[in-house]
Amino acid sequence: MAGSFQASLHPMTSAATPPPPAANFIRNIVDDDNRAGKWAGRVETRFPPEPNGYLHYGHAKSICLNFGLAKQYGGVCHLRFDDTNPEKENQEYVESIIEAVRWLGFEWGEHLYFASGYFDTMYACAEALIEAGKAYVDSQSAEEMRANRGTLSDPGVASPWRERSVDENLALFRRMKAGDFPDGAHVLRAKIDMTSPNINLRDPAIYRIRHATHHRTGDTWCLYPMYTFAHPIEDAIERITHSICTLEFEDQRPFYDWLLDALATAGRFPRPLPQQIEFARLNLTYVVLSKRKLIQLVDEGHVSGWDDPRLPTLVGARRRGFTAEGFHLFAERIGVAKADSWIDMSVLEECMREHLNEAAPRRIAVLDPLKLVITNYPEGASERCQAPNHPLKPELGARDIPFGRELWIEREDFMETPSKGFRRLYPENTVRLRYGYVVKCTGCEKDAAGNVTAVFAEYFPDSKSGTPGADNYKTKGNLHWISVAHACSAEVRLYDRLFSHPHPGQRRDGDPEAVERDFLDDINPDSVRVIEAKLEPALRDAKPEDRFQFERHGYFVADRHDAKVGAPVFNRTVTLKDSWAKGGK
Ligand code: ATP
Ligand code: MG
Repeated sequence: MAGSFQASLHPMTSAATPPPPAANFIRNIVDDDNRAGKWAGRVETRFPPEPNGYLHYGHAKSICLNFGLAKQYGGVCHLRFDDTNPEKENQEYVESIIEAVRWLGFEWGEHLYFASGYFDTMYACAEALIEAGKAYVDSQSAEEMRANRGTLSDPGVASPWRERSVDENLALFRRMKAGDFPDGAHVLRAKIDMTSPNINLRDPAIYRIRHATHHRTGDTWCLYPMYTFAHPIEDAIERITHSICTLEFEDQRPFYDWLLDALATAGRFPRPLPQQIEFARLNLTYVVLSKRKLIQLVDEGHVSGWDDPRLPTLVGARRRGFTAEGFHLFAERIGVAKADSWIDMSVLEECMREHLNEAAPRRIAVLDPLKLVITNYPEGASERCQAPNHPLKPELGARDIPFGRELWIEREDFMETPSKGFRRLYPENTVRLRYGYVVKCTGCEKDAAGNVTAVFAEYFPDSKSGTPGADNYKTKGNLHWISVAHACSAEVRLYDRLFSHPHPGQRRDGDPEAVERDFLDDINPDSVRVIEAKLEPALRDAKPEDRFQFERHGYFVADRHDAKVGAPVFNRTVTLKDSWAKGGK
């Protein structure tokens, strides 16, 4: 029952008193920098997606962190497209990312940037490194370079081209830019240390030849910077103070620092230089967040598209009815750490419930309708009952719901032979029809196969909710209902988790069949059920993306694309309680 408002209302969701941000190691770094006067109090972060896919729940963590941090310190966060790889990127992704970040409630003002907008500066930085003797053109084949890189135990071997003169390097690099060579003929490498224990410092490649058309710069370039070279430069150009990234870049930090130091020494950038800080990415149970797997789910038709409400993309989340506020609460609650860990899906769902409990008006829907006939109520008559729009917010008022002789109730609310502890409708039992009358069940009607086709009851005319007589009736059951004559029929999609195992595709101990498990085998066969439900008349006018709590059922949203005013279609966002807890499904 939808009765546990007080218990589940978390103080953090109260709009009037936003919670103070909890301390974490990143805020500590910013506080230390501010105390030391490093940036004169300036905090400038960035969210740097590569436009090669749709954003997912993991990105929401990074977005909330970067934009949230800037906001808390009165700074700004840039939205920067890291579009240095011409082969995989496109404009469709750019637009969907912009829309998703806005939807999460963040603004970047004039700070919208594209790494490709810096290609000239990046090229100039590369020439500056060559001039400083800190970069060279290598003409080994890709295989030779790989073989000479060494391993964790063996040092690398210097390229025969490592000692080319500055002039020769410059001339070759300019010819690479001019398009004189095919892909792979040469690469530009930083000249650092082929024996470094950190393989990332063994003369990493910084520019490669790619005769490819870029989604923004077209065919201007046939030479593209490597991500690890481009990213620190982007940060330095934008004067980013704290460059926050996920843990897999930890081993790249020495190169990040080496590069920016070399370029500052060459007079290209002022000091202090941006600082890279790594945090643990979001790992969430019951979903997959890898781009490759998400693409596979879409391409192979396991879901209906990128915005399928079951997919952990942000467009999917939006269509599912998840809210930006719910993601903010989630990001705050899971915090940031320096070590990887798993977050259970129930934590995210609970954050959505907490926000929706506050924000969603209450409505009534019967998902599995069974007819209840009130035999002593006059035929053709009807009357209004009043239902509050939100039990905690009387200021949101109430609405009328019509009552009549024939009502829809939930099939599971009736049992001809009640099981132990069943308190709803069964012959001779009395229950309250919520916001309406108390009724006593008198029997039922069945078809030839024994299925119940209608239930009969008599009502007590002096028991109407809100009238003085109502208090004279004590009932244990409290059912929701909708007048048959006034109900609105609508498609409702009951979404559930996409996977039925917390770690899709991962090997399970003690399960001999699961050694080579395909993550697709873990798809939950009941992840969506489409039904025709009966809705109270007020829901007929729901606008796309309007959210409601359907009493006793959960939170629902009018579908962004398929719902129209007058013709609603609803998606279930989340049930009222966690049905997956302890043994679950
Ligand atoms: P790719 O493998 O293509 O790099 P990606 O998921 O890292 O995929 P990006 O577009 O590079 O995609 O990500 C943009 C930002 O979001 C990066 O700063 C990245 O660290 C962050 N990010 C990506 N996945 C997660 C995650 N699961 N949790 C937190 N942050 C993430
Ligand atoms: Mg990445």
